[in-house]
Amino acid sequence: MRLSKALIPTLKETPSEAQIASHRLMLRAGLIRQMASGIYAWLPAGLRVLTKIAQIVREEQDRIGAQEVLMPTIQSADLWRESGRYEAYGKEMLRITDRHDRELLYGPTNEEMITAIVRDNIKSYRDLPQMPYHIQWKFRDEVRPRFGVLRGREFLMKDGYSFDLDFDGALRTYKSIMLAYMRTFQRIGITAIPMRADTGAIGGDLSHEFHILAPTGESGVFFDAAFETGDALGATDIDSFYEQMTTTYAATDEKHDERVWAQIPPERKREGRGIEVGQIFYFGTKYSKAMNFAVTGADGQKFYPEMGSYGIGVSRLVGAIIEARHDEAGIIWPQAIAPWRAAILNLRQGDETTDALCEQLYAALGSDALYDDREERAGAKFAEADLMGLPWQLIVGPKGAAKGVVELKHRATGERFELPVDEALAKVRA
Ligand code: ATP
Ligand code: MG
Repeated sequence: MRLSKALIPTLKETPSEAQIASHRLMLRAGLIRQMASGIYAWLPAGLRVLTKIAQIVREEQDRIGAQEVLMPTIQSADLWRESGRYEAYGKEMLRITDRHDRELLYGPTNEEMITAIVRDNIKSYRDLPQMPYHIQWKFRDEVRPRFGVLRGREFLMKDGYSFDLDFDGALRTYKSIMLAYMRTFQRIGITAIPMRADTGAIGGDLSHEFHILAPTGESGVFFDAAFETGDALGATDIDSFYEQMTTTYAATDEKHDERVWAQIPPERKREGRGIEVGQIFYFGTKYSKAMNFAVTGADGQKFYPEMGSYGIGVSRLVGAIIEARHDEAGIIWPQAIAPWRAAILNLRQGDETTDALCEQLYAALGSDALYDDREERAGAKFAEADLMGLPWQLIVGPKGAAKGVVELKHRATGERFELPVDEALAKVRA
């Protein structure tokens, strides 16, 4: 994309409404704009990040055999009366009445809807297990929307659901979801730690939250240094992976146990703050019973499938990643989800040789590059490139251009290389 034509409205000033780094940087880098309290429009650079995160989430769900569906954002109140949650959910639910006085709501989550869909279409044990998921906007009328997309009212979530024959099957599913989540976060380029959690409004027996470490996180977290390495992902089988994940100490302040903590060697203790980016639940037959979803078993008897639900905050992740990866100058995107791989900075717009070299780089990188072709001072271009945080900057001035040389800057480390065009391109593509 050419920056001169792009809808990337960067800001020099710090917006006064933004209290934390990710919110400030998302506004300043032109990723989002607030349309109403807790409701955001995603502009081109922001949408590219959101889409890349969603794609990694999708690929890792598909890899464990989950199937993508797309359920609507608007749901009928009657569906929620079946589970008893229509009254119980309270003020966070946005309730709507249509022109025929039918009660609707903007979905905060989809346990009821997916249970109804599977119930009405799956009748036999032979068709289980099922693991549908979707990536869809949710609405929760949060009392205090804040910190930009970290706590919005409308937000994008991957929510998945599972229906198994029995407890053993449900536990196997739960473990495979945990593995998929850890792979997802690793591919995105961040460290997330699963922590034993309370089950809250969803209800049920077993739950883990996944937290990204950041000083502005809402939860205090305590964990074993073993999580810093990501080694458990190399486990040979799912059971030993799950064993490692769940026996190594990690807890939010709500679940923290001082007695157990005291037994961990001091050099392995880590304390900090975490942002919840995902949560998974096993809740047995809570919804299948309440919504009368029974299937016929091998013995001809009816039974209620064992269920779980699994969420990832896709839009929250954008803010959480920035909280974990930024400096004074701006965002530092992990390569896998950066809106573009490289920025091309033309330091002498209008100079024939410089323009030609920039066009050559732009043609070679195609949709992976953001080309700063504006009539701007070099200083302003450097500052905006650092603010936007693309992994690489290809800096082209008239002197280098005359020799076919560009300066390549790595945003995360600040390293700089003077390289012939081909070598610079190879490094960016690597
Ligand atoms: P929180 O405790 O932060 O309010 P939650 O536990 O109510 O979240 P879940 O029902 O577990 O949320 O939803 C799954 C995921 O959706 C969360 O882990 C989080 O990443 C994301 N999420 C929940 N509420 C919001 C929100 N208001 N804005 C952005 N993302 C959200
Ligand atoms: Mg949660």
